[in-house]
Amino acid sequence: MLSCKDISHLTSEIIDNELSFSMRIKVKFHLFMCHSCRNFVKQMRATADTLKQLKPKQPNEDEINQQVEKIMGVIKELDPTKHK
Ligand SMILES: [Zn+2]
Repeated sequence: MLSCKDISHLTSEIIDNELSFSMRIKVKFHLFMCHSCRNFVKQMRATADTLKQLKPKQPNEDEINQQVEKIMGVIKELDPTKHK
């Protein structure tokens, strides 16, 4: 049986689903029995979700390519040899 201390050490693994199957069962059992750990994990999960939403969105490859094409277009316009 895991202790409350064990749960607090495992919180990030619990949230990121990085526990082995047997460990997950042990954690689930503890959370089922222990109201305060259940609340604790719930709070941590909510916090982690909020942090994820705050992370800036990474541009995908299409967006990067579009930006590169735009920049290349501007560079071409600036090319002095073109206006000869
Ligand atoms: Zn507990």
